[in-house]
Amino acid sequence: MIDLRSDTVTRPTSDMKEAMFQAMVGDDVYGEDPTINALQEKAAKMFGMEAALFCPSGTMCNQVAIKLSTQPQDEVICDKWAHVYLYEGGGMMANSMVSVRLLDGDRMRISPQQVEAAINPENLHFPISRLVCLENTCNKGGGSYYTMDEIKAISEVCRDNHLRLHVDGARIFNALTETGDDPRDYGKYINTLSFCLSKGLGAPVGSMLVGSHDDIKKALRIRKMLGGGMRQAGYLAAAGLYALEHHIERLTEDHQRAQKLGEVLQQAGWVKELMPVETNILVFAPDPAYLSWQKLVERLDKAGILVSVFGNAYIRMVTHLDINDDDLDQVIGVLEKI
Ligand SMILES: *Cc1c(COP(=O)(O)O)cnc(C)c1O
Repeated sequence: MIDLRSDTVTRPTSDMKEAMFQAMVGDDVYGEDPTINALQEKAAKMFGMEAALFCPSGTMCNQVAIKLSTQPQDEVICDKWAHVYLYEGGGMMANSMVSVRLLDGDRMRISPQQVEAAINPENLHFPISRLVCLENTCNKGGGSYYTMDEIKAISEVCRDNHLRLHVDGARIFNALTETGDDPRDYGKYINTLSFCLSKGLGAPVGSMLVGSHDDIKKALRIRKMLGGGMRQAGYLAAAGLYALEHHIERLTEDHQRAQKLGEVLQQAGWVKELMPVETNILVFAPDPAYLSWQKLVERLDKAGILVSVFGNAYIRMVTHLDINDDDLDQVIGVLEKI
């Protein structure tokens, strides 16, 4: 099967596995795993931050970040399709007991003006606006992204209004691949950022949360409470280190392949709508006058191609480390025959 459902489906390469087997490990709850410590140090440096924390998932990183940034009764501002709101099992509400102000962004990208207008006035009736969460790249926005200038502009609104700023950067390196921004600048503009090692970077497990020493100290307690304190997880961190060293530059290949698929879909008479292809994600809707999304999924499945369904009409395809040019040609051949 050619699996375009998500960039989470990648399997570790043999070199990555070799790095994992060679890892030096220790008990990370005691802070004694040298490989995890090296990964955390590297991640913090990359983003111009003081410290970092290795977590089992991106969801845990986001949940920890939201909890350390808020008190119960506070309000979080984010786009209506944000992963932190839609895809984390209601965790924001259950773990942090906060309310959410949902904004209608441009393919999920919210503007400084929208953020400013969503901040509650000082009045005991309202929850206290405390935290803004941005997603970069935006999953449900079809892989759209923020540039550093856009992040900076939102950070200024946050600073002026005493709000904290968290970036859900599950696919941050896909954004950086396109913008060419220096990741260290995040350290100047935001409080916390999470990113996944287990998506486009190709590691089997793990995500990082980066922030200040104080925030990561709080994060450590919250991660423990959530059950995310792991022991000899350096074997997993070794895969993450390997990914950061070897799998960032190749993301351009994924973006080029997504572009090619986008061109084919653009030409296809049976596609009703295609979101602009900006990174490694394609979101499109087939024209029900030609074929329903159910039929399309079924036909692709029969041809050995797996895709995911987004809402009720949209299909998502994601390019990644385990999709090569032969796979791409095969997919294009099938799409052209529909
Ligand atoms: C995948 C993803 C996450 C984290 O997901 P996990 O599966 O928990 O690692 C967070 N935000 C976005 C936008 C994602 O796509």
